[in-house]
Amino acid sequence: MGESARTVRTTCPYCGVGCGVEVTGAGDAVSVRGDKCHPANLGRLCSKGAALPDTLSLEGRLLYPEIAGKRVDWDMALGEVANGIAGVVERHGPEAVAFYVSGQLLTEDYYVANKLMKGFLGSANIDTNSRLCMSSAVAGQQRAFGADCVPGCYEDLELADLVVITGSNLAWCHPVIYQRVARAKRERPEMKVVVVDPRRTPTCDIADLHLPLAPGTDVLLFNGLLNYLRRTDALDWGFLEEHTSGFAQALQSARDSAESIPAVANACGLPEQSVAEFFHWFARTQKTVTVFSQGVNQSSSGVDKVNAIINCHLATGRLGRPGMGPFSITGQPNAMGGREVGGLANQLAVHHGFDDAATVERVADFWHAADMARKPGLKAVDLFEAVAEGRIKAVWIMATNPAVSLPDADRVRAALRACELVIVSDCERDTDTTACADILLPAAAWGEKQGTVTNSERRISRQRAFRAAPGEARPDWWIVSEVSRRLGHAEAFAYESVADVFREHAALSGLLNGDVGHDFDISALSALSDEEYDALQPVQWPVTAALGKGVRGSARLFGDGHFPTTTGKARFVAVTPRAPVNPPDRDYPLVLNTGRVRDHWHTLTRTGKSARLSVHTVEPYVELHPADAGARGLGEGMIAEVRSRWGRMCARVRIARTQREGSVFVPMHWNDRFAAAARVDAVVNPVTDPISGQPESKHTPVEVVRWQAAWYGFVLAREPLPVGTGADAMGDAGYWVRARADGAWRYELAGTRALEDPAPRARELIGTGLHEAGADEGEWIEYNDAAQGRYRAARLRGGRLEACVFIETRPQLPAREWLLALFAEQTLDEPNRMALLSGCPPSGEGDAGRIICSCFGVGLNTLREAIASEA
Ligand code: SF4
Repeated sequence: MGESARTVRTTCPYCGVGCGVEVTGAGDAVSVRGDKCHPANLGRLCSKGAALPDTLSLEGRLLYPEIAGKRVDWDMALGEVANGIAGVVERHGPEAVAFYVSGQLLTEDYYVANKLMKGFLGSANIDTNSRLCMSSAVAGQQRAFGADCVPGCYEDLELADLVVITGSNLAWCHPVIYQRVARAKRERPEMKVVVVDPRRTPTCDIADLHLPLAPGTDVLLFNGLLNYLRRTDALDWGFLEEHTSGFAQALQSARDSAESIPAVANACGLPEQSVAEFFHWFARTQKTVTVFSQGVNQSSSGVDKVNAIINCHLATGRLGRPGMGPFSITGQPNAMGGREVGGLANQLAVHHGFDDAATVERVADFWHAADMARKPGLKAVDLFEAVAEGRIKAVWIMATNPAVSLPDADRVRAALRACELVIVSDCERDTDTTACADILLPAAAWGEKQGTVTNSERRISRQRAFRAAPGEARPDWWIVSEVSRRLGHAEAFAYESVADVFREHAALSGLLNGDVGHDFDISALSALSDEEYDALQPVQWPVTAALGKGVRGSARLFGDGHFPTTTGKARFVAVTPRAPVNPPDRDYPLVLNTGRVRDHWHTLTRTGKSARLSVHTVEPYVELHPADAGARGLGEGMIAEVRSRWGRMCARVRIARTQREGSVFVPMHWNDRFAAAARVDAVVNPVTDPISGQPESKHTPVEVVRWQAAWYGFVLAREPLPVGTGADAMGDAGYWVRARADGAWRYELAGTRALEDPAPRARELIGTGLHEAGADEGEWIEYNDAAQGRYRAARLRGGRLEACVFIETRPQLPAREWLLALFAEQTLDEPNRMALLSGCPPSGEGDAGRIICSCFGVGLNTLREAIASEA
């Protein structure tokens, strides 16, 4: 592909909203804007989408295949992968091999990997990191509707008169959906928004009512609602009788567990008035959408929570029509596409499982399968347990970082280190998982490969390449196909293009048309020419052959009251509230909740490259209620250790009344590349939902204790320091975090051993290693007040700031924003030089303060001044 400037319409690679993006330019010099024609975002982008160009640098990319850390050619690497897998199958059988894939893969990548494992290796041991974010929604929807489908579309959230957002910080995790709801509410202030979440998150900014329920009590709340709907005669009896089954049992369970508003309020830890108001609004509002996400799914009773929500919509007949329905929002860009191809271990293909032997045979015939799997494989947590126990001897990990993101992550990492054969396909050279690999395969990244993704409203969109893949990086579907050929399956994997893969997937989706449980059907797209595939417009499945390939799909499902179950009726599921498997106890009295921050994505491999995305949240943090912090002697800015029975991690203390007492929150993103001991999943319990296998990432009993820092500090440097040496070089392998800043790197440091004399070590840290040996170290400015435990130094060259280091015995250090801004200056003028070691701007000059708006670099002080000037 040429590198000339042009505009390419593609899709954002981050969250499940699936925004359309227009990319203009060539190489690294591209600009992006929201695609006004894409129905998901209609031109909008969030901070992550807007900063996509910042993430395209080749720094840290894996560019060539490697075996045992040495560069090899593709032929050798592919041969080793094929030989390794074949050898394990021969010696130990197909169940000794596993693939662990990702919602980051494109549908075509996913399809080929799933086909190889389930049709040709004879095992279903392929699972995906989507298991961690939405498998409870999958199982809940299958139980209720007979198939894994989201009945509605994004427009329903704008058309609704009541939007209930439960278990989702929509404002940060799916910002464009949040913007759409916020705008609808601005235009129709009578529209109500209810947020159900133990934390008061930024999503509550548009809420008419916030229900900070006790963690894990969601089933009780929605059972209480079902019971209330019956008591107040708010049911749609016509819909119930004609189109559903199992209502009486579900209602009985609801009555048994949540008999009255006071009982529900008491059990959920909520004010009675709030519960009554929520129930009343729900009962009287026909156009109601209930949005749910990881806060519901990531639970040992996640599937029941999903069904408790769906029960309320079935009882009122509110789904499949404009402005109503239960709405699962997926975390990843192609979690839905992975579900469609069958990328979950308990799925086979095109939304069908292994229950029906005839279905398995038909898929086997379609694939001309050499060795067909006939039973479900191991789900993610069990899969890595099997690696730990040595039952799985070869694992191929694609586009994900399980050494960081799986619960009990230290055990997962140890399991990978001990595994006989670990193959990793990735874009990045150095991740916590690639460090465990025997064979590394360089994968093409966003902007370098072609394919499709499906967003949370069933909309299939194209991802299009706008730059050539660097080095020898290749698309994942190509890598898997080449290995398949070397395993002896050349004919079945003779794809010449990604469009070939898509056409086959689309054709397979029509094969089971008319079967019970069949919902996913894109057979109308199975005959697309290469040109038509290239030009494919966003389309919502089903897109059946009967409708013809020109149609734009189906915005809503079940509007006719027909469901893909054996009876054609939707199923109520009787659900009983269950306490979390591991409740808090005397040793671990707090409940750990994990989640995302606004501007970062997963394990920072992409967003960590962007300075503007790194300013909003620089460090991992543990957020506590003031009462919990006070009881533990923790103050704002201190460093704390979060401990559980499974592991430990360190993070900066934040104290917030928005946190529920007894609960703490830690973001999921940080890992060994960016921080010392900050992998929160090392702490998370490996308990899973018994049906979905989704881990309970929102509920781990922990204790938070003060990490006894003897000193705190930071380094700002124009050139990066070797990872980890920040604190090491200060004589203490304690706490360090690194973050990209504009024109510099920022290191936050702390140590547990008092620094007798910081000067020699500071000079070593920022005076060397920043330029070639023997070069002029430049000018050194230093301030040392041993009595106050304060040390500050800076190095300049030719009048330009190269680096500075600030050390204190207390966590209160100068704000970094003004100092970082000095790195943009070619020469520091006299007032700035004079003020440098104070850490504050010369009097009279403004300090922008902490950055609030990442897109435009607006600081808190600037914002305050602007507001004051308008007052
Ligand atoms: Fe990308 Fe999600 Fe932001 Fe849209 S909302 S721009 S898909 S991260």
